[in-house]
Order: sequence, then C-alpha cells, then structure tokens
Amino acid sequence: MTKYVSTRGQSPAVDFATATLNGPAPDGGLYMPQELPHYSTSEWHDMAKLSYQDLTHRLLLPFVGDCITSERLAELIRDAYQGFPAAGAPLVQLGHQQWMLELYRGPTLAFKDYALQLLTRIFRELLSQRGEKLVLLGATSGDTGAAALAAVAHQSGLGIIMLHPHERVSPIQRRQMTTLDASNVRNLAIEGNFDACQDIVKALFADRDLRQHLPMSSVNSINWARIMAQIVYYAASALSLGAPNRPISFCVPSGNFGNVFAGYLAKTLGLPIERLVVASNANDILHRMISHNDTVLQQVVPTLSPSMDIQIASNFERLLYLLNAEDGSRTAADIQGIRDGSMTQLEPVVYARLTQTFSAGMADDAATVAEIRYIAETTGLAIDPHSAIATKIAREKATSDEYPMVALATAHSAKFPNAMQAALGNAIELPASTANIVQREEKFEVLANDTALVKDHLINEFADYAQH
Ligand SMILES: *Cc1c(COP(=O)(O)O)cnc(C)c1O
Repeated sequence: MTKYVSTRGQSPAVDFATATLNGPAPDGGLYMPQELPHYSTSEWHDMAKLSYQDLTHRLLLPFVGDCITSERLAELIRDAYQGFPAAGAPLVQLGHQQWMLELYRGPTLAFKDYALQLLTRIFRELLSQRGEKLVLLGATSGDTGAAALAAVAHQSGLGIIMLHPHERVSPIQRRQMTTLDASNVRNLAIEGNFDACQDIVKALFADRDLRQHLPMSSVNSINWARIMAQIVYYAASALSLGAPNRPISFCVPSGNFGNVFAGYLAKTLGLPIERLVVASNANDILHRMISHNDTVLQQVVPTLSPSMDIQIASNFERLLYLLNAEDGSRTAADIQGIRDGSMTQLEPVVYARLTQTFSAGMADDAATVAEIRYIAETTGLAIDPHSAIATKIAREKATSDEYPMVALATAHSAKFPNAMQAALGNAIELPASTANIVQREEKFEVLANDTALVKDHLINEFADYAQH
C-alpha cells in the first residue's frame, strides 16, 4: 500500500489518511507518495474509454490504498463531481493546435473546486471512520475561501472558518463566501490586509492550548489529496486529444505551483506530456527560476490576476524533491537557502532536469488586458485574467504545430469585473447557477486585527467540536 514520506526526509512514513488529515508533515515538509505508479500505453488506451468520474476512480484508488474502500471512493467521487459538466473538464479550440481547458464550471467558478469538492468528502469519510470532528481554518484573498467554504457546507463532522481582509476582497468573491446557508461555515472579516489574516491563522495553529482544545486542520496547507485530484483533468484532456498516441503540452497559470505540479505527476504516470509551460504574472519568481535559473525572492505586487500574487510557491518543494532524486535533506537545505536568500540558483544538474520538461513565460497587467481583447476578437470568448496569461504564453511557447498545446483556464471571467471592464468595456454576467448570490443575505462578522479576539470567537462558535 502506498506510504507517504516528507519532502524533507525527517518524518516517519504514514498512510494516506494520516497524510491527508495532517496537512504538512511534522518536519515542515510536504507529503509525497513513496512510489508513483507508471501505466503502459495499453493501460492508457483502456482509460481513454472511461467517464471522468471513472477515470478519477482508476487514477486515485492506488493513492488512497485501503484507507477508503473502492466502492466508497467511487461514491465520494460521484457525489463530489455531480455539479460539474458531464465531460468533467470541457476543451475549447482557440486556434490551430491551440486549446483551452475550461476548469471554471464547478460550483464556485474556479478550478480549485475540482480539488476541494473531493478533498472535503475525503476528510468527512476519514473523520467518520475515526469518530472525530475537525475545524478547518484558513485565510483567503478570494478564490480559495469561496471554493473551500462551498465544499465544506453541509459536510458532517467538518466545520470551517475563513478569515478575509475586510473590504479588500471583490464583492462577488465575498458574496460567494458569505451567502452560503450552512450551519457549519463561518466568515470573519478582519480589519487589516491579507497578511494580517494569514498571521492570525499562523498564530492560532501555533497555539498549543487551542490545538489541545479544538482539533484543527488547514485548507491553505498543501494537501496531497488536493494535488492528486488535479492529475485527472490532465489525463482526461490528454486522452481526448490523442494521447497516448501523440504528445501534448500544457500551459498553466501558476501561483503556488500545485496545479502545474499535478501535470508533472500525470507525465510521471506515463502520459506523453512534452512540455509544461508555467505562466506567471508580474510576480514572476517561477518564470525567472525556470527561464533564467534565478531563485531570488521579491516583494509581492498586486495585479489583475490576484490568485497568482505569490512569491513563495509552496508546491515547488515537491518538484524539487523529485528533481533531487528524492533526497529529503538536500531538499530541506535548498528550500531553506531559497527562503533566506543564501541560495540564488539551482545546481546545474537540477536546473537541467527542471528544464527538460518545464518552460515559462510572464505577462504583466497590460499584456493581460491586451490578451483578453485578442481572445474576444478572435474567438468571441470572454476569458478571465488568469486564463489570459495562460493563452498568451501558450501561443508564444508552442514548440510544434504537430501536436496540441492546452492552456488551462482557471476562473470564470464574471469573478473579475474590474479587469473585464478595463479590457472589454463591460463586466461579464454570472452564470445562472451563481447569479442568486447577488440577492442572498450575507453572513459575516467584522473583527479587529487581534488574534485573541479571533481565538475567543473560534472557541465560542465551534464549541461542539471541542475535545473532551
Ligand atoms: C489558485 C489559482 C491559480 C494558481 O494555482 P496554483 O495551483 O496555486 O499554481 C491560478 N488561477 C486561479 C484563478 C486560481 O484561483
């Protein structure tokens, strides 16, 4: 059965259930499967015949091991993806060999729904096996919070509280979080910025008394189960565009590196993925690292694609671990060096391995707006700023007109009215499934930027979840 080990090599191997419920490993690293399966061409041919749900089951079962029965896993998958398009992830053609994978048709109109809808059901299942309850705690600047709250609403055994910066998230994103009618979700608006919210969350996780009292886990933490769910749409789209008989490349708008890392895993499982192109906005550490072997961190600047306004891409650690031939101590030293600035380049052999598969590009806000216009003019589609960065860089980096390049579209353009207004002169209407958030009553409390106040609030609101 698959065991999970830490990318930093200092924590004992655990099973899928522990890796999922723990979040990060005790040594601060991220969990990775000790072994990754590899599928043959004929196995991929068989998988090409499966529905999205059945393909999910086929690919995820080996990772779950016997922590969840095969039948139960199939039920969780069916339940998680019932609100999604029947095709799972629809492909749209943009030009010769240029495609776009629409990952924004789930309940909160962001690709994070694919991972979080399934993750929360897996959490519920593992908790009910153990007869335990858990409160998920997180800070959000928009998309993650909306997707996580929607996925947790009405899941028994799970509660969730999300902190967002008061008056600093877009009204649509706030309404997606605050109009959910579920007794197990809570929203706090903190009088401060996103960093203030994140600092409070970190302080609460570090509070031993609180953790003794209230079992907590994180949705911001870089959970293996989130990554594994994302492998499936790479496989489904590759198979529907001719894999395993012909190669395919993907271009992925990236922030924390979770999405594109799932693409790398799809390649490791045996799909003929030629290139993975990482698309960055002005916060371009990933682009600098991949294109120029420059790992120097810079200040985060706000852009039109806020979900990519990140400098420390946590999941890059997982790739580094694989590029370091699964050497945990080396990976720990590299991550430390990048964070404290003592390391400014990857070792030549590691960099060479990285660029065997990865390329990268950057689009600033002006280029993003121009690309939204270009796609609207050439195809009639209104794509969001994150997706636009991907379609632009996909065209620039396509290395062959023999086989497909797929840009991942990660959010619906209705979520970003300011950017769409700037690009097209008008905002985009919300799809009917979501439009009612505009009328629904909002529920959230505003609290001062004060960890002690948030702690009291948490203890009161989630008294039912306390350990006795
Ligand atoms: C989270 C997010 C991203 C970045 O994905 P990572 O897995 O963090 O690289 C890109 N676009 C949108 C719309 C997102 O919400």
